[in-house]
Amino acid sequence: MTTPQKHSPNDPILLTSSLHVDEARKAIAQLVDDLISESRLRNDLGDVQTVTLDQAINRILAEDLLSPIDVPAADNSAMDGFAFNSDCLGNEDKPVTLKIVGTAYAGKPYEGRVGKGECLKIMTGALMPQDCDTVIPQEFTEQADPANNLLVTFKQNQVKRGENRRLRGEDLQSGKAAIHAGRLLRPSDLGLAASLGVGILKVHRKLKVAILSSGDELRPLGQDLDAGSIYDSNRYSLIGLLNRLDLEIIDCGIVRDDPASLKSAFIAAAEKADVLISSGGVSVGEADFTKQIMQELGDVGFWKIAMRPGRPMAFGVLKPTHSSNHKTLFFGLPGNPVAVMVTFYQFVRSALLQLNGASQTEPCLTQAIAQAPIRKKPGRTEFQRAIMERGSDGKPTVKITGSQGAGILRSMSEANCFVILYHDQGNIATGDWVDVALFDGLL
Ligand code: AMP
Ligand code: MG
Repeated sequence: MTTPQKHSPNDPILLTSSLHVDEARKAIAQLVDDLISESRLRNDLGDVQTVTLDQAINRILAEDLLSPIDVPAADNSAMDGFAFNSDCLGNEDKPVTLKIVGTAYAGKPYEGRVGKGECLKIMTGALMPQDCDTVIPQEFTEQADPANNLLVTFKQNQVKRGENRRLRGEDLQSGKAAIHAGRLLRPSDLGLAASLGVGILKVHRKLKVAILSSGDELRPLGQDLDAGSIYDSNRYSLIGLLNRLDLEIIDCGIVRDDPASLKSAFIAAAEKADVLISSGGVSVGEADFTKQIMQELGDVGFWKIAMRPGRPMAFGVLKPTHSSNHKTLFFGLPGNPVAVMVTFYQFVRSALLQLNGASQTEPCLTQAIAQAPIRKKPGRTEFQRAIMERGSDGKPTVKITGSQGAGILRSMSEANCFVILYHDQGNIATGDWVDVALFDGLL
């Protein structure tokens, strides 16, 4: 096995004029891995908190959850029907008639015995009586004496020995892991923990993520726009994106494009946070200026990534104070509003999950059929905003939403997915299958 090559953000390989998206992702994952193993982030990322189930959604499980019980805790019926002892079954196609001696409900077991030639009416989830090993579902039976309802009859070949019975410990044995560490807890996990009688889970502490917007043209909401200024929208998209991951957000507001303000804002934000995400100020015109500041604060590379949107991006670590060994992971995202969301999806989201101990960091992809041709140049990865829906033939189809400019947030707002067109892919024809990342559960 070959060991993966190590890259620092300033590695010449990563500073080529067009860095492959996969190469950038690899370098990010590697640096995050290094940070975790160094454990240099403030407040020690390994910190574990205990939370009650109602607080646990979207947190990341820190230790395997071992089941304290067998599931199911006892043999029980998987169907509504009649429980009986399979000794009465032969190979013939002959009907069997059994006498009904009682009824067992879920939560209300039958206490008596079930003898030879007898059976028990049983509901789904009800405990199997000790004398019985098989359940014949209700729909395969007939009443043999409709007047009294005391005899039931069925064909022997409708059921085999042991069928329709759930065995104790069949789903999970006591002491075995029900949920593994690193799990991003979903509703079903909370239900699963509760079904085991577990009301408290150990989770990793929330990551502290600082965000800031940089640009002289940016104005906060509530202020009038003067000539050439625009509202700062990126912070709100980022707050929305981060809230989906249940993190602690430190909003550091808008910072002007002057070296002193930028430097002090970066230091203040980095000192408080595990991760700093800024937007703006990394495009060709401004990168040199930001670069100078970053050189003083840490090890940050300025990348030109072969992707659209989102070409320029800065990435690395900040060491805001020389005295401590606190390191802050830094993402300098491009300023264009759509590029912010795309680079977050492609690079930041998985890094945050990885840093917080999640084992599954990649979103699920699906595929759909292009409803119309899509223009695409080989040599870069594209994330086109699109609407995925079910076509008239029932197959999933996808259609690009209007203009794809990196500044047009409406294309994102109207879309429900990205169509991902990979580095080497060229034009897409109507009817081609393309990869799709749905926003639901992702952004
Ligand atoms: P920059 O990367 O700073 O060159 O910005 C690229 C484009 O994105 C420019 O048109 C900026 O005005 C715009 N932009 C930068 N930051 C923001 C922001 N926080 N909200 C909205 N637009 C922004
Ligand atoms: Mg700018």
